[in-house]
Amino acid sequence: MQTSPKPGGAGAAPAVRPKGSSPGVAWVTANEANRVRVLQLLYDVGPLSRADLAKLTGVTRTTIGSIVQPMIDNGVLVEGAPRSSGAVGGKPARPLWFSRDGQPIGAVHLMPGRVQAAAVSPVGEVLATSGGVFRAEAANGSAAVDLVVDCLRRVLPPGGRRPLGVGVAIGGMVDTDSGTIVEASLAPALSGLPLAPLVSRRLGLPVHIDHHPRAQALGDRWFGQARGVRSFASLYLADVLGVGLVLDGVVQRGRSGAGGEIGHSVVALDGDVCNCGRRGCWETVATGRWLRREAARRGLPGADGMTPSRLTALVGEGRPAAGELLDRYARNIAVGIVNLQHTLAPGLFLLHGDVVAGGEALREAIERHVTAGVLPHPGGPPDIRFARDDDHATLLGAAGIVLSQSLGLVR
Ligand SMILES: [Zn+2]
Repeated sequence: MQTSPKPGGAGAAPAVRPKGSSPGVAWVTANEANRVRVLQLLYDVGPLSRADLAKLTGVTRTTIGSIVQPMIDNGVLVEGAPRSSGAVGGKPARPLWFSRDGQPIGAVHLMPGRVQAAAVSPVGEVLATSGGVFRAEAANGSAAVDLVVDCLRRVLPPGGRRPLGVGVAIGGMVDTDSGTIVEASLAPALSGLPLAPLVSRRLGLPVHIDHHPRAQALGDRWFGQARGVRSFASLYLADVLGVGLVLDGVVQRGRSGAGGEIGHSVVALDGDVCNCGRRGCWETVATGRWLRREAARRGLPGADGMTPSRLTALVGEGRPAAGELLDRYARNIAVGIVNLQHTLAPGLFLLHGDVVAGGEALREAIERHVTAGVLPHPGGPPDIRFARDDDHATLLGAAGIVLSQSLGLVR
């Protein structure tokens, strides 16, 4: 796991190089640490003036000026319209923010059999999207590589501005050091595929990969519903389950990108056999597959295509069996959330995936079971929120991976 510098004076690096001294290694390191802190604050908080940045980092205005000016000169940052400096008078503050016209970023979400891609601006705007399907059961992963390259060429046409790089969010276990997909249980052909080096060679761009829910969490944190929230869990709940955890401002990542496999945490010692071959994983009781199977067992209409959305519609029609299933589904989802809260207490759980279409009835039922399941604490019960429908968190997070790599940020 990584650590990050905290905003505020306590952790600030020495401010200014002493007069007459040479820019030695220690000063360069301190200046670099302050530069990273400034960029991190802009993504975490939004546009800030030099004065705001000085206050939040605990270094002088002069140092802030020496950090931001080169980035303004090379077009990474731009100065916004002057803001009133209020009753105190003085020079109006001009907020600094990333340039919309900066180099675009390629963002990809690779799922079993399906690819979504986008061009994203440095301020987190989706500029263009593309997508397609491939045969997940094909003998090797070449169909997936071809489709990723094709989708990226459609959103980042050759001849346009050179992209900063490509970030790929993978629905499977990843080795972030080598850029390899370790295992994708729903698309075995992708297991062992060195996706990042293969795509990088074809496009001539740096390519970084990460675990899908972790990219989603970065998208929530920098461009989405959790901007400015220091600790939260970004859950993905659909036919697979995963989590990206942000604790004290840092997206948690084990060695070489391990972790986040919350779907395979055991919730029933003698439970059903999971896709992964183990028994009683959370995925055996809280995915869409479980929902379809249980709907069939309870004789609900349309069980084969049952979704959280259809289930709440059936509840609305007054079917008692649907109401019971909704409550059981919510309880089974709550079990994993309760375990996470007891262990790391992220406090806020932002839920993405098919579950969101279940609407307020499902959200409220999950929250009720979570509140009943966690041990009481003065910090209060966790907050359960659903992601918005127009959710681009994963693609924006994939772009965020590239930004953090190229700007040297902690993510
Ligand atoms: Zn499992």
